[in-house]
Amino acid sequence: MPIHLNYQGTICQKCGAEFVAHKKDCVCPACGEATDDCCDFAAETIATMKDHKQLYGNYFPQSWFSGSIADTVQGIIFELFDNYEIDKPEDFTAFVLAQLGDAVWEEGQEHLAIQVEEIALEVFEIYKNDSDFKGDNLKEKPLNPELKEILPKTTDLPFDIDSGAGF
Ligand SMILES: [Zn+2]
Repeated sequence: MPIHLNYQGTICQKCGAEFVAHKKDCVCPACGEATDDCCDFAAETIATMKDHKQLYGNYFPQSWFSGSIADTVQGIIFELFDNYEIDKPEDFTAFVLAQLGDAVWEEGQEHLAIQVEEIALEVFEIYKNDSDFKGDNLKEKPLNPELKEILPKTTDLPFDIDSGAGF
């Protein structure tokens, strides 16, 4: 199962915009109103990225349900870093801006572009100095061979369609 944060996002008390309070003393990116909310979003995202890479071989999991603004932003960050690792461009900031330049935001979520850019750079600051992200350190873990034997077996009983027909 992909890993989701407990933090869902912040709703601005003044303008109602949903955003990610990703650092201390965050302000609403739509109207500038201050919030007391704060989530260590970059560090949490890094932790999730490591788990996903080991589980799925990618930062973006096989399926990702966006149930909150925090999920939406994380999903974009996962994809960004998967794309970044394809040819590791030298200028990360330029890469992020180019990737986000094509993004189409839902109405009322345009301010997320600023947020994603800021968060991507914060994540990158941790990422580039974290040895876990070097080489094959996060390579997909092979299945434990003993586990293979207790994988669900296909049933011998054919499914009887008629028995459910109500006659
Ligand atoms: Zn606001």
